[in-house]
Amino acid sequence: MKNIAIIGGGISGVTTAYFLDRLASSKSKKINIDIIEKNSEFAKDKLNKFQYGQEIYDSGWHNSINNNSVLFQFMLELGLYRYLIKSKNTSKVIYTKSGLKNIPKKMLFGYPLDRNELLASDLLSFKDKISILFGLYNKFNFRNLSIISVKDFFINNTNSKFYNKIVEPILTSHYGSDISNQSLSLVIPQLAFATIKNSDIKNVIENMYSNNVVDNITSGYEYILKFTLRSFLENIESNLGNKVFTEFNNEVTNIEKEDGKYALTIGNKKRYYDYVIISVKHTEFLEWFKEDRKLINYYKDLKFISNIVITIICKKDSLMINPEIGEIIFDKQVDSFITNVEYVSNKWVEIKSKNIHMLRVYVKRQSKVNKLINKSDKEIENIISNELKSIHKNFTFEKMYINKIENNYMYADIKYSKYIHEIGEYLARAYDRIYFIGNSKKAINLENTILEARETAKNLIELI
Ligand SMILES: Cc1cc2nc3c(=O)[nH]c(=O)nc-3n(C[C@H](O)[C@H](O)[C@H](O)COP(=O)(O)OP(=O)(O)OC[C@H]3O[C@@H](n4cnc5c(N)ncnc54)[C@H](O)[C@@H]3O)c2cc1C
Repeated sequence: MKNIAIIGGGISGVTTAYFLDRLASSKSKKINIDIIEKNSEFAKDKLNKFQYGQEIYDSGWHNSINNNSVLFQFMLELGLYRYLIKSKNTSKVIYTKSGLKNIPKKMLFGYPLDRNELLASDLLSFKDKISILFGLYNKFNFRNLSIISVKDFFINNTNSKFYNKIVEPILTSHYGSDISNQSLSLVIPQLAFATIKNSDIKNVIENMYSNNVVDNITSGYEYILKFTLRSFLENIESNLGNKVFTEFNNEVTNIEKEDGKYALTIGNKKRYYDYVIISVKHTEFLEWFKEDRKLINYYKDLKFISNIVITIICKKDSLMINPEIGEIIFDKQVDSFITNVEYVSNKWVEIKSKNIHMLRVYVKRQSKVNKLINKSDKEIENIISNELKSIHKNFTFEKMYINKIENNYMYADIKYSKYIHEIGEYLARAYDRIYFIGNSKKAINLENTILEARETAKNLIELI
């Protein structure tokens, strides 16, 4: 019998327990899994919800789920298909200083994939478009794409105007923040953490181009989640078998190696495990590895990014919206707090059929988040509604739910991307039966979190 500790009961920890449990059963391996969570429930500080009418809504989740993704497959495995709603194919616009402009359709990470669409869009001058097209399809000559920044890559392949006007707002609305100075590998999840060769990126872009990519980020159909992230987590939890023990209100404060086992200090007791999975942030676990200069040096300057997500229920008939518009992305140069606005009612047919007008407003650029995070809900309400009035004169609202998600994503800067491979290999060598997963590794979004949980469980079960 092997004893496994999972430190942290966020989505990462609980999903890893689920995959371990299932794999152990199918391969007849004898294991016990303890999930040790310091709070009184899983992901207590993070997964917020609110009630409007009879329904419970998520106040954080903003992405849709692609039917080609691991996350989608996992939803099917959990029997959640009926909670996935196919999203309407709506367009996106950019709010610039000179008003709303259409974003060219068929974009990948801000790259226009269709020459005709780009030429038809009204966002740039003809001269700009020609120069972009010329640059875009003619040079891909970086030696190591994993260590160049997003901004440098795009500016070198297109031009700075195109970057500032289209690419930066799109990427900022998709990722948790302005990722201009982060590594390019971040925008290509499939190739992240690998050393990307010139030919690879060229192939990826060309494949996407010939496969008729319909969205700006992914190919395939987009779905949205009908229920909350919390109920997703509870669903995984209810599928955990009898090999999994969950312990709340138990904080791990140290790890030491003793007689071939790992001793975890929990409260004033020590408990011994054969394998340990650490799913907590590095700000928590660095303390436990004080002697390890390599680990400390790697993580010490890496910061987390906070977001503010505001859900707004608008008054009936107060919102005159073009039904084709799904999202308004704010140009950085507009200099407002909002990064993007989604018309949730447009995407979510059931909300629309109840005649509820719901908007999701995101504040993701860190300089703006920092200005708002300590303000009261009332102050934020005023700032946001004034800004919305600037694009929609008649804007009035019935309710606003404000969710400040502090330290949500890790800021994966160049140092992070440059050394993550090396650090991963080092950790595997130095701590042979400890796995580091979650927010300080790949869990920058839910898709990566599920992928990493599955890989970790598979590797660990093979060792037993
Ligand atoms: C509000 C919100 C919105 C999101 N929106 C999106 C989205 O739109 N798109 C997308 O792809 N992904 C989204 N995500 C997913 C997210 O980015 C990650 O996939 C996910 O949060 C990773 O969770 P985690 O388990 O790694 O970390 P965490 O949720 O931080 O879990 C860590 C857990 O460890 C516990 N802990 C900490 N220290 C200790 C200790 N010493 N001992 C014991 N326990 C400890 C904490 O209490 C916590 O429960 C969202 C997440 C949230 C919370």
